[in-house]
Amino acid sequence: MKRTSLLAAFLGLGICFASYAQDHRHVVTNPTKPDVTEYWDPEVRVVTPGSIPSDAIVLFDGKSLANWESAKDGSPAAWKVEDGKMTVVRGAGNISTKQKFTNYQLHIEWQSPIEPETLKSQGKGNSGVFMQGMYEVQVLNSFKNRTYRNGQAGSIYKQSAPLVNATSPMGEWNVYDIIYTAPLFTVNGGIETPAYITVIHNGIVVQNHTKIQGTTEYIGQPKNPVHGAGPISLQDHGNAVSFRNIWLREL
Ligand code: MG
Repeated sequence: MKRTSLLAAFLGLGICFASYAQDHRHVVTNPTKPDVTEYWDPEVRVVTPGSIPSDAIVLFDGKSLANWESAKDGSPAAWKVEDGKMTVVRGAGNISTKQKFTNYQLHIEWQSPIEPETLKSQGKGNSGVFMQGMYEVQVLNSFKNRTYRNGQAGSIYKQSAPLVNATSPMGEWNVYDIIYTAPLFTVNGGIETPAYITVIHNGIVVQNHTKIQGTTEYIGQPKNPVHGAGPISLQDHGNAVSFRNIWLREL
């Protein structure tokens, strides 16, 4: 009985010592001055905000397709430029930026053309914005036009449906603000970290740090080819969709 009490006393004492030591160490190693956890350098870079931020790369200024080329063969982009917007010319094919990008914030505005009631589902106002030329954020007239949910406006095509449908009526402008992080690959061609994307459609979050599973295929499963920087590409799906005010900030 006596031994047990003694042992308990020792254990108790041990615990006391331990907490004393912890408190003591805390006082010594964590100074209470606020400036210890304040970092001043390097100073955060200044960006002047506005309709086009001061550090943005303007990809389309409403006047010229000089920054764009045919995605197929690099020939001059053959879409129509008029009234401050570029418009798909059916059959002219997808177009891509000449410049290539990795991680970025992209601003792009798009407009569904006025089209007849007979056009439905994927046939109405279909285009797309491709990250690195291969991952499509769907552009579609999804205002009162049902289609498969992972193929409507704001979807990562055939992968992730948008959280909500924020599409403007036909003929009105839509805005996408996209934050994109490129995938990283291992030396063996595997995926180190997948691509992630956040899409804000007309001010509404429709993709929240969504994992991109791979290329956005019309038929079949996503593929994961190893790649580096890539262009922003826009889709010719046969509908006269227009785009304007396209700029990008590298991250
Ligand atoms: Mg499309």
